[in-house]
Amino acid sequence: MVRTVRSCDVVVVGGGIVGAMVAWFAAREGLRVVLVEPNAPGAGATATGMGHLVVMDDSDAQFALTQLSLDLWSELLPELDAGCEWTSSGTLWVARDDEEMGLVPAKATFYRERGVKADVLSAREVADAEPNLAPMAGGLRVPGDRVVYPTNVAARLIGLAQSRYGLQRLDGRVVALDGTATLEDGSRIEAGWIVNAAGANANDLSPGLPIKPRKGHLVITDRYPEFLRHQVVELGYLKSAHAMEQESVAFNAQPRATGQILLGSSRQFAGDRAIDRAMLARMVRRALEYLPGFARLSCLRTWVGLRAATPDKLPMIGPAAPGSRVLLATGHEGLGITTSTATGRLIADLIVGRASPIDPAPYLPHRFAEVAHG
Ligand SMILES: Cc1cc2nc3c(=O)[nH]c(=O)nc-3n(C[C@H](O)[C@H](O)[C@H](O)COP(=O)(O)OP(=O)(O)OC[C@H]3O[C@@H](n4cnc5c(N)ncnc54)[C@H](O)[C@@H]3O)c2cc1C
Repeated sequence: MVRTVRSCDVVVVGGGIVGAMVAWFAAREGLRVVLVEPNAPGAGATATGMGHLVVMDDSDAQFALTQLSLDLWSELLPELDAGCEWTSSGTLWVARDDEEMGLVPAKATFYRERGVKADVLSAREVADAEPNLAPMAGGLRVPGDRVVYPTNVAARLIGLAQSRYGLQRLDGRVVALDGTATLEDGSRIEAGWIVNAAGANANDLSPGLPIKPRKGHLVITDRYPEFLRHQVVELGYLKSAHAMEQESVAFNAQPRATGQILLGSSRQFAGDRAIDRAMLARMVRRALEYLPGFARLSCLRTWVGLRAATPDKLPMIGPAAPGSRVLLATGHEGLGITTSTATGRLIADLIVGRASPIDPAPYLPHRFAEVAHG
């Protein structure tokens, strides 16, 4: 039995960081927006992410999306409160040997030619910048990269959008998108646009999407202020993130605003949230090669999160099929905290019919045959 029918301009399914940003950018346009989420905001993959906001150079499309995202994050800064734990630590990409160091000039040039500040550091300068690192051949510092606490950002923006722009929030689960959004209690929401921002569960509502869960482990330590100053990432990280093999690890360590050290990262094509001890051990062994002093730190907790991975590493942002009023905002893999802002902006632009600051074509879902043919 149908209990309630509501109507609005936009219904957003999912209150992770992506759904929160879509709701924020759409509500700011003066649109009537309803956000549906069965749990606390940001309790899905968003709660498990590192919160590293990073400009990536692996492809022009990824660069454009991440650079726009960082610009939009900077504009959001005045809206965030202390709980959002915004820090400006920058990223230090480190080279273990001369071969890796050989990659640094091209990486620096790529960033600089596109207006992103990037400093090449010698072995000595890396040691001065991060005294706890093992000797490195050198590195590249990208000072504009940031860190946030993503769950609190999602909650903050949803709350602000409610009080400032009249966003309506519904506790509930959407069970079908069939012209309207149908909730599990049978109520329906009629909307001009429906945005599927259900993360790794987007397939439940828009079947056939080429999304696979990619499991990742993280470890967080007790508080050790000054142990680390930058988000330090090995130069081989991109290789690990791009490898389509079943399992990979890469060194990635982050100083939290609390003084804790957050350690990543692992990648496995798997959809369960069980701790894989062998994988965790491999990840920690990798970290010890870079940060031998990590062995002295007390680790408080470890957990697993699921990234929503697409075959080409780019998210799906746009109509679920050409001409559809169901829009997808999913498939952000390991960059969804970073790229949530640009995703919100692109979706809002599409809805109001405005040109976006970047070309949206590389992210359109129908680039995949599965989506193009419905
Ligand atoms: C280990 C790890 C480290 C990471 N580190 C980083 C990082 O440093 N930087 C970065 O940029 N990214 C990082 N990421 C990626 C990032 O966490 C994700 O890309 C991002 O959180 C995805 O956000 P989302 O809103 O799409 O998904 P989610 O946060 O999963 O949100 C989806 C929401 O939809 C809701 N939902 C699902 N089904 C329904 C339904 N039927 N009806 C209503 N609601 C529904 C869920 O309850 C959930 O809250 C990391 C990920 C992992 C796993």
